[in-house]
This record gives sequence, C-alpha cells and structure tokens, in this order.
Amino acid sequence: MSARIIDGFAIAQKIRSEIALEVSALKKDGSSPCLAVILVGENPASVSYVTAKKKALAEAGMADKSIDLSSETSEAELLNIIAGLNRDTSVHGILVQLPLPSHIDEQKVIAAIAPEKDVDGFHPVNAGKLLIGRPGFVPCTPYGITVLLKESGVPTDGAHAVIVGRSNIVGKPLALLLARKDINATVTLCHTGTKNLASFTRSADILIAAAGRPGIIGADMIKPGAAVIDVGVNRIPDNTKKSGFRLTGDVDFQAALDVAGLITPVPKGVGPMTIAMLLRNTLHAARGSFK
Ligand code: NAP
Repeated sequence: MSARIIDGFAIAQKIRSEIALEVSALKKDGSSPCLAVILVGENPASVSYVTAKKKALAEAGMADKSIDLSSETSEAELLNIIAGLNRDTSVHGILVQLPLPSHIDEQKVIAAIAPEKDVDGFHPVNAGKLLIGRPGFVPCTPYGITVLLKESGVPTDGAHAVIVGRSNIVGKPLALLLARKDINATVTLCHTGTKNLASFTRSADILIAAAGRPGIIGADMIKPGAAVIDVGVNRIPDNTKKSGFRLTGDVDFQAALDVAGLITPVPKGVGPMTIAMLLRNTLHAARGSFK
C-alpha cells in the first residue's frame, strides 16, 4: 500500500487564485487590502517566512507595509509602532513575525494588536472567540489544516483526531477547531507529559504531528489507512544543499507511506496552506468581518 500524498501546494494555489479574484472585486468597491508586516531582527527562518508572505500578498493583489526593525529595538518602541498601526485606517491587518528577540515579551506584543487587525489570530480576544465558537480570526496553520482535510475529502465526522503538540499557535487551536460541531472529530491532545504516545497515535484516524521533533512519528505509530498531517518544519544540516540544510517534518515520511492512507509532505504540505489562510484572514480584516 502506498499513501496518497496530499498536495498542499496545489490546494493553496487554488485558494490563492480565488482570493485574488475577491481582492480585485473589493478594490473595485474602493477598498485596497493592506497588511503591515513587522520583522524584528534577522533570524534566517523568519526572513524567509516574511519574504514568502509578502510575495503571496503581492500575487493576490494586496499591499504590504513592511516594517523591518533591528534586533536592538526595545519593547516600548515596538509597542509604540503597533499603536500607530492600530490607528492607521489604511492598514487593515498587522502581523508581527515570531519569535521576537528574548528582551521583548511576545504575549504583551500580541495583546497590543487591535483584535480586529489580528490576522494571526493570536490575540486573547480571538483565542477566546475560538474557544466559545464566536466568529473571529483563527490562527493560520490550524485553519489551513481544516481546509486541507476538507479539500482532500478526509471524513472528520466521528473520526478520532490525535494531535501531537499543544502550542498556542498550532495544537491547542487545532483541537478546538476539530472538535467544533461542523467538523465533529473526537480529539486527543498529546504532549511531552503523555505516557505511551504510540498507544494514542495508533488509534488515530487523523494524526497531526506538531511537535517540532524530526521523525518522532514512525510508521509503527500510525494506524493503517490514517490521514497523516505533518506540521513539523525542522532544519536538518545537509552539506549536499547550497543552503547547508534541508527541511524535514515530524513524521518518518518514507516509512509512513507504506502505512498511511493519506499524508502531507514537508515541504509543500501544511506550509503553503498557512500562507493561503493568512491571505484569507487579511481579506477578512479588510472587509471588517470581525469588528
Ligand atoms: P512548540 O511551541 O515548540 O510546541 C511543540 C509542542 O510539541 C509542545 O506542546 C510540546 O509539548 C510537544 N512535544 C515536543 N516534543 C514532544 C514529544 N517528544 N512527545 C510529545 N509531544 C512533544 O512548537 P510549534 O510552534 O507548535 O511548532 C511545532 C512544529 O510545527 C515546528 O516544527 C514548527 O516549525 C512547525 N510549524 C509549522 C508551521 C507551518 O506553517 N508549516 C506553522 C507553525 C509551526 P510540551 O507542551 O509538553 O512541551
């Protein structure tokens, strides 16, 4: 048996084309979506994520207001910039690329963004809305995973979904989304305190690996025929690559192909969906969907 590989890149491209059409219609109505993208410092992974996000915005016909700050920027300076962007009516969304330098309190920065401009969906108001099932911005990666499952025809009603990882940006919001009545999965959320991880993952109809640990999910941890979503993006040193590294997921992909029913690759699985959902959220911000 060989698993069907879910082409996250192709699904994301389709969504991005749909968004581009919606953007051009919005522009005809006189509104031009604009996302402020704040980068503090020069972390290479952050630089490459921000570059990809800006390229996607441009391709969708949306503007970005780039704010590149030195790693020495103080927390007060950053909070002041965010306050200005909150007031700026030409800016619809605000994205602060994480992680921030250690002298800046990330939670304080996230909480400073106006909830109606919080396209990452990390603000406590949006996190709370997700918890109680009210409309609001949903974090892009979990949002993208739900769309990926739907577009790939994975049955979720009554399915057992097991998530490995409980971060605020992936695992926890994804657990809430999958447990929503319209998706209707039964969710198990695993973490480093989970005893006998394999006993949970082996019972998953849908297995989502979001631990940031390369190869932590082996083939023997997957139920035959399961849908496997690999969120992990790990940089492994590789001298054969010009960059000196290659990207790999949390799942032992080659071995998993023999067991899983469907599987996302890394790269070109979940990553492109995250960017597509950022565009979707920016469009929501421009329309004032969650004011
Ligand atoms: P994170 O904040 O480091 O959280 C990792 C989670 O995994 C934690 O809850 C941790 O448990 C759990 N974990 C770690 N090792 C484990 C183990 N051996 N067994 C069980 N649970 C374990 O990471 P994150 O920000 O959620 O990101 C996770 C991965 O997804 C990273 O590789 C990241 O690069 C990737 N990512 C990809 C995208 C994308 O668009 N493709 C977006 C976001 C993140 P504890 O809570 O107990 O510590």
